[in-house]
Amino acid sequence: MKKYDYLIVGSGLFGATFAYRAKQQGKRCLVIEKRPHLGGNIYCENIEGINVHKYGAHIFHTNNKVVWDFVNSIVEFNRYTNTPVANYKGKLYNLPFNMNTFYQMWGVTTPQEAEQKINEQKAEAIAALNGREPANLEEQALTLVGKDIFETLIKEYTEKQWGRSCKELPAFIIKRLPVRLVFDNNYFNDCYQGIPIGGYNKLIDGLLEGVECKTDTDFFNSEYREWEKYAEKLVYTGAIDEYFDYKLGHLDWRTVSFATRIEDTPNYQGNAVVNYTSHNEPYTRVIEHKHFEMFGQEVYNTPKTVISEEYSTEYKEGMEPYYPVNDERNNKLAKEYLNLAYKENNVIFGGRLAQYQYFDMAPVIERVLQIQNI
Ligand code: FAD
Ligand code: UDP
Repeated sequence: MKKYDYLIVGSGLFGATFAYRAKQQGKRCLVIEKRPHLGGNIYCENIEGINVHKYGAHIFHTNNKVVWDFVNSIVEFNRYTNTPVANYKGKLYNLPFNMNTFYQMWGVTTPQEAEQKINEQKAEAIAALNGREPANLEEQALTLVGKDIFETLIKEYTEKQWGRSCKELPAFIIKRLPVRLVFDNNYFNDCYQGIPIGGYNKLIDGLLEGVECKTDTDFFNSEYREWEKYAEKLVYTGAIDEYFDYKLGHLDWRTVSFATRIEDTPNYQGNAVVNYTSHNEPYTRVIEHKHFEMFGQEVYNTPKTVISEEYSTEYKEGMEPYYPVNDERNNKLAKEYLNLAYKENNVIFGGRLAQYQYFDMAPVIERVLQIQNI
């Protein structure tokens, strides 16, 4: 009999949730993780008593009650609701686009006035389409919210984030931003939203409790390359092109770099997320981490604060791969790798790196919960 039922490569949400379920079934698992810590991209580092989202701000949101109940069975979640503010050349606007934004933009106070204004604003763009579907992000945004909002809150932010013009980007990127004729700054439409009380590490620790884990262990540098000697099955959550030794070519990624610093004030920007939507600032967003978990007086009970400026960056080897680049070349290449993956015996490929897809946290958990016969 082999020592393990599963060798799990990667301790992010996919690997950790899989390990949790396997352990519940009495399976023996070993999780290996190349980073010096567990948790993948949801890992937080405690600085000045504040949980700092080291790999980018993470807000859990879902409509799926099964997933929500599952994560809350591991750790209770708080009531954090994401309400980002946009700063365009010093003027503030609420996001997502809602009655507060329309009031700040045009001074309109009723849904009827706002609707009329939006219709005026988008009329030109709709006429220019002449009945066809929006072909790129710029056309999509102009026909969704019109010129003023596009120019103030979308154009330059998107150019910073994606490093290319809105005309070169696919329309679908912007479709997911809600447009609301109510005074509601909640960024997400989902029923359930929050942050684990005590931070995301509690979620990871809870999932991996009682599971054998090794950090600083790269699958490709360790004896586990001959994993079949040790384990019946492999769960692989690393990059799919790396698994196949890049034999069909490298997949592209977009990455983000973070400039994190401590500020000697209890409350730096009054909100967890402030988007900078003009080219005046080189960063896209500033995150003030304490506001994810501290509310009211708690903010002032911790005398300092930690902020991170986010810079969207072109990916080079050695950087953290964050967002898949879903253009034609990469989609095609990913499909070819996924076809190879289907043919691998006894290997489960899962998560954002192995499937080359942007997944929020909840869909990753949902997928693991749906796997039969673990
Ligand atoms: P990961 O968390 O990346 O885990 C994969 C793990 O495998 C990593 O720890 C990696 O080190 C390890 N690994 C890779 N290769 C090897 C190897 N060869 N050997 C050993 N270990 C290896 N989702 C939300 O729901 N809300 C948000 O607000 C949100 N914000 C985000 C912000 C950013 C900047 C990014 C990039 C993502 C965000 N997400 C958010 C998505 C979220 O991060 C993912 O859903 C989640 O991390 C997916 O988990 P995973 O296990 O697939 O991948
Ligand atoms: N976006 C924008 N202005 C903002 C926030 C978002 O133009 O203030 C655009 C941008 O193109 C981004 C897209 O909306 O890529 C989707 O935003 P979301 O916050 O969902 O993006 P994420 O950073 O989570 O990918």
